[in-house]
Amino acid sequence: MNALALRIARLVEAGGPMSLADYMHLCMADPQHGYYAKRPAIGAQGDFVTAPEISQMFGELLGVWCASAWLAAGSPSPFVLAEAGPGRGTLMADLLRATAAIPGFRDAARVRLVETSADMRAAQRDRLAGLHPDIDWTESLPGPEGGPLLLVANEFLDVLPVRQYVKAGGAWRERCVVADVAGKLSTVLGAGAIDATILPPGHEAEPDGAVFEHAPAREAWVWQLAERLSEHGGAALLIDYGHGKSGFGDTFQAMRGHAAADPFAEPGMADLTAHVDFQRLAAAASEAGAVASPVVAQGEFLLDMGLAERAGRLGAGRDRAVQERLRGEAERLAGGAGMGSLFKALALCAPQWEAALESLPPFARRPAARPADPPAD
Ligand code: SAH
Repeated sequence: MNALALRIARLVEAGGPMSLADYMHLCMADPQHGYYAKRPAIGAQGDFVTAPEISQMFGELLGVWCASAWLAAGSPSPFVLAEAGPGRGTLMADLLRATAAIPGFRDAARVRLVETSADMRAAQRDRLAGLHPDIDWTESLPGPEGGPLLLVANEFLDVLPVRQYVKAGGAWRERCVVADVAGKLSTVLGAGAIDATILPPGHEAEPDGAVFEHAPAREAWVWQLAERLSEHGGAALLIDYGHGKSGFGDTFQAMRGHAAADPFAEPGMADLTAHVDFQRLAAAASEAGAVASPVVAQGEFLLDMGLAERAGRLGAGRDRAVQERLRGEAERLAGGAGMGSLFKALALCAPQWEAALESLPPFARRPAARPADPPAD
């Protein structure tokens, strides 16, 4: 049994069954034994590959998005250009490179990386060396000092912990982690139930065994982001795998060496995630005062942003192999069978930025406003 499993077993012995959210948090964030403290997570050598590691075009198009939003909002200076959960720093490197020639953007930007892991920060520092004169790190969302906020986050929300509730005997009970006498971890249904008002519509009709995932930590994070945007201006683009409509299902998973693993076998050794419920996050953001775009598939978003044209431009005058590679990357990012449909994009903005961002994807996907009803006679 590994050291973290032993600690979790002791915690369970002392405090009773542990929520999945607490378990996830310990596995990922424990400073000594947590996943991000010690594993080379991302990339071919790691456990999973992310969009910016697949193609430079991903970070470039997100850079175009940020610069377009900034220009449309009147080129505020200074502003904070932030990324939450920047991984190896690849997305931000591509974003900065792609926007270097946009007059004023680079000089106005204060680059802030929201990152809790010291190892990841070190990797980001290496990757971004020399790319911008004002780069700094924060543990949580940057404050209002640097002006309006433009934030991107890819595969960040899915690492924030979720709770699971399982329908049993007509009630929704919380799934919790326990340990047997040998310290082996498994799950049971705990005594805790969920307030029915939090459940999506249709929960009464779900059969026993149905699972509902609730992510208060994600909602709280988006709530705080939305407040920051509405009070001090700005926009954010959140990309992750998940669903555009709230529903039921068990999406809690562990990835290790590019394969699914048992999430309870060796805590801290695998990447633990669960799908993101974008409908709830959009609702939380609106309640907190920001404007939420429609939730669109990643493929749709990237194609709207000009992925095909970008691939064409990068491949122009290059040999067949390069062109084929670029086409393959675009297909992987935007194709309907994989990331293109599983991943979703949601943008948020300050109410005072809404008019400026109207024609920018994914806001541009909003159904046209219905003409006002004719006045009654
Ligand atoms: N966006 C990157 C990496 C995603 S992995 C990419 O697309 O490749 C998740 C990242 O979030 C890692 O950098 C991890 O260290 C960071 N992270 C995890 N929990 C965090 C938290 N609570 N606050 C800030 N960063 C966090």
